[in-house]
This record gives sequence, C-alpha cells and structure tokens, in this order.
Amino acid sequence: MLELVGIDVRYGHKRALEGVSMRVNQGEIVTLIGSNGAGKTTALKTMSGLIRPAAGEIRFEGERIDRLPPHRIIERGLVQVPEGRLLFPDMTVMEHLDLGAHRARSDQPFSARLDGILSLFPILAERRAQKAGTLSGGQQQMLAIGRALMAAPRFLMLDEPSLGLAPVMVDLLADAIRTMHASGITILVVEQRVDLALSLADRGYVLETGRIVIEDSADRLLSDSRIKSAYLGI
Ligand code: ATP
Repeated sequence: MLELVGIDVRYGHKRALEGVSMRVNQGEIVTLIGSNGAGKTTALKTMSGLIRPAAGEIRFEGERIDRLPPHRIIERGLVQVPEGRLLFPDMTVMEHLDLGAHRARSDQPFSARLDGILSLFPILAERRAQKAGTLSGGQQQMLAIGRALMAAPRFLMLDEPSLGLAPVMVDLLADAIRTMHASGITILVVEQRVDLALSLADRGYVLETGRIVIEDSADRLLSDSRIKSAYLGI
C-alpha cells in the first residue's frame, strides 16, 4: 500500500535519512522503532509530504506521492497524527473535528464519521464544546486521533501516541488502535514504548541514525536480543 524506496533526507548538510526502504501492506500494523534522533519523525513527515526527500521514491497505492503537497496526500487517504498532538488550545473539540474533515474524500457523510469517532472516544462527545487547551493529555491525544479520523484515512500514521500518558490512558489508546485497525485502516506507528508497539504490530523496522538496520515480524523482534537490550531494557 505504501512503499519507500531509497529515501534520503537532509537538513542542510546533515543527513537525517539514508537509503530508507520500507513498505506497509494493506491491512497491516507496522511499527518504526529507533532511539531519539534516529529519524522516525523525519520519516513520517516525509511520507506526509511535509519534507521533500533529496533522493528516492514514495509510492502510495502504486502512485508516486513524494512530489505532492501535504493536502493532496491527505486527500488520498494517508493521514498523520503528529507528535505532540499539535492542537489549537483555544479551539473547541468540535472545531478541531470540523477542521479534520476539511480535506476528507469519503463516501461516508460527515455525521456518520463524527458518530464513529464519538463512539470510539465517548469522552469527546461529553467535551465537545470544551477548548482543547483545557483537556487532559489523554483526551488531547484522542482529539488529535479523532481529528485525523475525520479526514477519512485509509492509512494512518501515529507519531508517539502514548507520550506523556497515564497507564490507563495508554491501555485505552491501544484498544483504539486495535479498533481502528479492525475497521479497515492500515497503521504505521512510531512509539517509544517498544513493547506496546510490538504487541500491536504485525511487523517492524528499526532505524538507527537514519538507516534501516533490522526488519522483521513483531514476534521475532520481541525475542531478538538486540531489541531486548537496546529498546526493551531486558
Ligand atoms: P525523536 O524520537 O527524538 O523525535 P526521531 O527518531 O523522530 O527522534 P527526528 O526528529 O526525525 O528523529 O530527527 C532525526 C535527526 O535529524 C536528528 O539528528 C535531529 O536532530 C535532526 N533534525 C530533526 N529536525 C531537524 C531540523 N528541522 N533541522 C535540522 N535537523 C533536524
């Protein structure tokens, strides 16, 4: 469904990604693992069209998207939930969900998508008139995901969704990811909690200083001694 071939990204003279090739098949959950600064966020931003690669190709459903502006990529159904949520503190929950719907290309009417999101995250229905800045961290993450879902994604990228959340919220989030996946959305997740990411994912890639160094099934990565010592603290 999504394929990266030989992607290089530079920030000035610094190479943030070097020859990154990876793919996500329709219906999969794939995780991208790596320590701070490895290039995970850069990879997601490049797929979203926010960063233009210096070399390589990105194909979504067989068509090149690496020269498209971000809004055209969203319209095709590839949507990112950014790290840090990037909400507008003075805008309400409903205003964010309206905003998310702006670029949607969907057979489903607005009201049906909204109902789906409010049943996935009932707290957003209760808080629909509340400003985003007054929500808890977990509620903000739900709103960031809800906003992305309003764009009717077929492929959703999540950047560090559990960051700063209490354990009970992390469990809710994991359930929400499973529910979204069961509804037919293909998912790529970047997550500090590597144990959580691998428990959700079918496959994973490990990125070190801008290069993919390991690619395997989630099961094998969980028992890989390199993953255990570097990312699972075992
Ligand atoms: P983290 O988990 O800390 O977000 P990451 O794996 O997502 O890390 P990136 O944020 O993609 O890593 O950063 C990859 C490398 O590129 C790092 O060395 C980072 O310092 C550098 N970098 C990121 N953004 C910029 C930028 N706008 N200008 C220059 N260098 C950048």
